[in-house]
Amino acid sequence: MKRIVVFSGAGMSAESGLKTFRDSGGLWEEYDIHEVATPEAWEINPELVLDFYNQRREQVLQSKPNAAHHAIVALEKKFDVVVVTQNIDNLHELAGSTNVIHLHGEILKARSVKNSDKLYNVNGPLSIHDRADDGSPLRPHVVWFGEDVPMYELGKTIIQSADILIIVGTSLNVFPAAGLVLHAKEESRKILIDPNEISIGSFPNLIKVQEKAGSALPRAVNDLLSNNH
Ligand code: NAD
Repeated sequence: MKRIVVFSGAGMSAESGLKTFRDSGGLWEEYDIHEVATPEAWEINPELVLDFYNQRREQVLQSKPNAAHHAIVALEKKFDVVVVTQNIDNLHELAGSTNVIHLHGEILKARSVKNSDKLYNVNGPLSIHDRADDGSPLRPHVVWFGEDVPMYELGKTIIQSADILIIVGTSLNVFPAAGLVLHAKEESRKILIDPNEISIGSFPNLIKVQEKAGSALPRAVNDLLSNNH
């Protein structure tokens, strides 16, 4: 069975109503990254950080998977599919994808600030008074700018194993995650879907589809399911 790896970013969930970060109208026009998404921000003003992620969680809880998320699930009929996502939402899982790796964490989880293995499901706002059972404060289970990406090596191994790589809805601007796509095998087929022009350099066997995920992905999936790839 051939392996398809889907590498997704914020644009994947844009048609579900979740804002991207870097587009015009994106979240970083409303917020300063340094004030809400860094370890320093957490030190200086944890309430503001929690408030930012509480709003993200609330929006995720109100959103539903879109046609692009559903199309990826359909690929599992014929392919071994792994989704490597930069997104912290749960829309791939809600759609039914069975193998999802979250590079930047999950907004519906919190963890102890002292012990990153102590994870808790969160379905409402987190407060600075919430505690893990080791007694220490809980923080959102997300990777902040300036922090290590613990899932990086796993993501790299998975991308290296792809026969077909679908890159969708990512500006490829956030490193180290964006650099992962460069580990794809030269001979693997690559499809890049994004309505904006994404610069990826010279990348062998690449087809660019400059369109939204909700229309382009179902078409790409139909093609992959109906032809002998
Ligand atoms: P980004 O904001 O840098 O880029 C988003 C990309 O999506 C852009 O290239 C844009 O052209 C594209 N896009 C917009 N609408 C689209 C659509 N309908 N279909 C396909 N593509 C579309 O986001 P990024 O590259 O993922 O990196 C930023 C970081 O932001 C990631 O680490 C991610 O964790 C985080 N983030 C996550 C969410 C989420 O979980 N839903 C939302 C915002 C940001």
